Amino acid sequence: ALTIGIVGLPNVGKSTLFNALTRNQVLAANYPFATIEPNVGVVPLPDERLAKLAEVFGSERLVPATVSFVDIAGIVKGASEGEGLGNKFLANIREADAICQVTRAFADPDVVHVDGKIDPASDIETINTELILADLQTLEKAIPRVEKEVKIKKGDPKLLEAMNTAVAILEKGTTLFAGAADARLDLADVASLQLMTAKPFIYVFNTDDAGLLDSGRQDELRALVAPADAIFLDAQFESELAELEEDEAAEMLADAGQAESGLDQLARVGFHTLGLQTYLTAGPKEARAWTIRQGWTAPQAAGVIHTDFERGFIKAEVVSFADLVEAGSVAAARAAGKARIEGKDYVMQDGDVVEFRFAV
Ligand code: GDP
Repeated sequence: ALTIGIVGLPNVGKSTLFNALTRNQVLAANYPFATIEPNVGVVPLPDERLAKLAEVFGSERLVPATVSFVDIAGIVKGASEGEGLGNKFLANIREADAICQVTRAFADPDVVHVDGKIDPASDIETINTELILADLQTLEKAIPRVEKEVKIKKGDPKLLEAMNTAVAILEKGTTLFAGAADARLDLADVASLQLMTAKPFIYVFNTDDAGLLDSGRQDELRALVAPADAIFLDAQFESELAELEEDEAAEMLADAGQAESGLDQLARVGFHTLGLQTYLTAGPKEARAWTIRQGWTAPQAAGVIHTDFERGFIKAEVVSFADLVEAGSVAAARAAGKARIEGKDYVMQDGDVVEFRFAV
């Protein structure tokens, strides 16, 4: 499964946030999650469509899609016995598919800040500089080799050009994710190098209540990290929320004037940042959201349910969620001509409600 690595300076609230993520998953114990690992928080993706689907189909339970977060800081703490701590840290970031950087924006004088002041911009620069330097090192090692290969017509000149463009972006102190568009760098061209700052970034600003409410300040921070997504949450509040039953949590959220918990926002943004989407299936047993990549075809999507479904794929009956709810049942949707039979080249759309036909 694709994972999002959580990074940040010490004392910014990473553990607090991660504990909220994992507690959230423990409470959601009726979801059939895969193995629970100590450094991985698997959180359900909020999806209001599932409850509606369950109504239409009389489904017994809801099974949402999930998003996995890895506590990279936790891995580092555990690995502190061994040598090469820095390298291990970077190796763990390399394995993640996206980076979630937690930054302190809460004031609390009782919690020491490593640099002695609350300055999100400077904190982000500190972390990103490390990642940028590591990427520059990777490129500086690889460029001479590719140059040689290009000279003897064995290398890819396009790769070399992309690598040099990447160096120019990084030397300006910009992550590749943030700088690629302006420099006309197609990140796919340097994908083979597994550069860390080429991964999608999400920034979580760990705020106190006042910070949550100040929209001017939020806009400043949003602009600072664009085009990455910014999420504002109070990690301590989220960890308290995660301990409550669903209805109590909803009440506490409403009292705080928030429409959605920070963790729900994080799951949604994370899912989107990873380039994922869902399709839906439903029956009397369960209404379920399945995770696929954007652009996947019907047989690829069927393969997520079972590899046999992909191999033996014949066709799919697809109704859009909106059409299905409007019609009230699959039969009514069929009668209204809203159920389509799609073949193996069909590209899945978000919210397709699907039944696959296959032969084994
Ligand atoms: P980490 O080192 O980044 O994992 O940070 P921790 O999660 O251990 O948090 C460091 C300290 O800050 C702890 O004492 C937390 O209780 C506190 N803390 C975390 N989030 C918040 C917050 O949103 N507001 C306040 N006031 N304190 C927080």
